Amino acid sequence: MIEIYDTTLRDGTQGEGITFSVADKIRIAERLDAFGVHYIEGGWPGSNPRDIEFFEQAKPRTFRRARLAAFGSTRRKDVAVSSDDQVRLLLDAATPVVTIFGKTWMLHVREVLQTTPEENLAMISDTVSYLKKHGKFVVYDAEHAFDGSKDDVEYSVATWQAAERGGADVITLCDTNGGSLPADILAITARARQAVKTRLGIHTHDDIGLGVANALASLDAGVTHIQGTINGYGERTGNCNLTSVMPILRFKYGRASVPEASLAQLKELSQFLDETANLRPNPRLPWVGASAFSHKGGAHVNAVQKVIRSYEHIDPALIGNSRHVLISDLAGRSNIVMKARELGFDVTNDTPNLREMLDRVKGLEHRGYEFESADGSLALLIRRALTGDPRPFVVDAYHVSMRHDGETSVCEATIKVRVGEAFAHTVADGDGPVNALDAALRSALVTFYPELERVRLTDYKVRIIDSTIGTAARTRVLIESSDGTGEWGTVGVDDNIVEASLQALVDSLEYALTRRGR
Ligand SMILES: [Zn+2]
Repeated sequence: MIEIYDTTLRDGTQGEGITFSVADKIRIAERLDAFGVHYIEGGWPGSNPRDIEFFEQAKPRTFRRARLAAFGSTRRKDVAVSSDDQVRLLLDAATPVVTIFGKTWMLHVREVLQTTPEENLAMISDTVSYLKKHGKFVVYDAEHAFDGSKDDVEYSVATWQAAERGGADVITLCDTNGGSLPADILAITARARQAVKTRLGIHTHDDIGLGVANALASLDAGVTHIQGTINGYGERTGNCNLTSVMPILRFKYGRASVPEASLAQLKELSQFLDETANLRPNPRLPWVGASAFSHKGGAHVNAVQKVIRSYEHIDPALIGNSRHVLISDLAGRSNIVMKARELGFDVTNDTPNLREMLDRVKGLEHRGYEFESADGSLALLIRRALTGDPRPFVVDAYHVSMRHDGETSVCEATIKVRVGEAFAHTVADGDGPVNALDAALRSALVTFYPELERVRLTDYKVRIIDSTIGTAARTRVLIESSDGTGEWGTVGVDDNIVEASLQALVDSLEYALTRRGR
C-alpha cells in the first residue's frame, strides 16, 4: 500500500500565482478527504496567521479518510524544545499528524543554521521525541536528503538515524532543489533503507521535469509514502504531480494507494483545484488535461474509430477524462463522423452530406478559421448541412462608432436583427466596439429568446493570421461562452476585427439556442 501525502495546501501555495483563502483551504481539504488521499498537509502555523486560522477552523471537522498534518521545522538551535514557540504552534494546531523538516546537508548546518553537526542531530531527535510524547504521528522531512548525501553520506545517514531514535513514524527523503536524477534517487534511497527501519517517504520537485519519475524511482528501494501536490503546483516549476502519480500507481504499477473508484473523479479534482486557484487548466497536463486524449491526424482518428486501444494508452474514462477528436485540415471522414457524434448528431460513414461537410470545413480552415476550440461553430456547420433548418435570427445591419473626449472613450453600437417576420432595432454603449455590439445584439434578442439572458462571454481571444493567399493579414476571433450548464467556443474570421468578432458572437448566441433544442 502506497500512502499519498498531499501538500497542495502548503508546498503547493509556494507556487507563483497560487493563493487560497482559509475558506478555499477548508473546501480543498474536504475534497481531498473525499477523494481518499491518506494525509493532508494543511499549512505551516509558524509561518503565517492564515494557516493558524485554517487549523482553528479544521478542528471541529471530521475527516473520514485523510489525517490532517501541520507542518513546521525542528526546534531552533540552543533552545529547549519545550520553550520553542514554533513547535508550540504545531501542538496548538491539534492535528493527529505533525510533519517537521530538518537539515541533512552539512553545507546548510554550517552555513545556514551556523551550528555544529552534533547540535543539528540533537535538534532533530529532540523535536521528534517531544512530538511523539505529545501523542503525535510524526513525519520527518529530511530536507536536501539527496544533495546532502552526495556531499557527505555518513552525516546524512546520521541525521536520518537521529529522526529514527526520536521515534519518527515516517522519514521522508526530500529532493528540495529538484535537480536529482532517478538513478541517484534510487541509490541514495537504498542507502537509507539499509540505515533505518522506519517507513520511508519521498518528496520531489520538478525543476528538471523529473518530479514524478524521481518519486517513482524510489519505490524500488522500498519507499511506501509519496508526497506531492494536485496538478503539480509548487515553487519554481512545481512539485511532484500527484495527478500523475495516483493513476500511474494503479494503472501502470498495479499497486494500491487511493480508492480505485476515486480515480474516475481525478479530472474533476484537478479542475476543482484550478478553479479554486483561478488558474486556466493546462490542456497538456498528462492524464487529466483536455488534450490528453485528443486525436487530430486522420489516420489516428480512423484507427481509434476501429480499435480504441490502437492510439490510446488507457481508457480516458478511468480517470474521468474523455476522448476528443480535433477537426483540422488533416481531418478525414472519420474525424467528422466522430466529432459529429461527440457533439450529439446521428452521423455515420454513410451519411450523404459527409463529403460536403468536410469540404466546407477544409475550405474555411484554408481561409483562417480554426475549429479545434470552436465546437460551437462546428456544431452549427454540421447542423446546417444535416437539417437545412432556418436560422433562429439574422443580423441585417449594424453600425459601430467610437468617441474620445480626452477623459473617456465611449463606443456605441446599433444593430438591426430579424427573427422570422419580426424585426428589432437596438442601441447600446460599451467600453469597446465588441462590447457595445454584444450588448446591442443581446438586448435585441432577449425579447425573442429570454434564455439568452444567462449566456456570458468568458473569454475573447484575437489572433492576427497570415493570409494563405499572400494579401492583407486577417484577424481570427475566438470566443468562449457559458450559460452555467455548459461551455462552448465559436470562431469568426475577417480582415476587420469588428466583423470577425460579430461572426463569433452570432455563432455563440445561435449555438446557445440550438444546443437546447437537440
Ligand atoms: Zn518541497
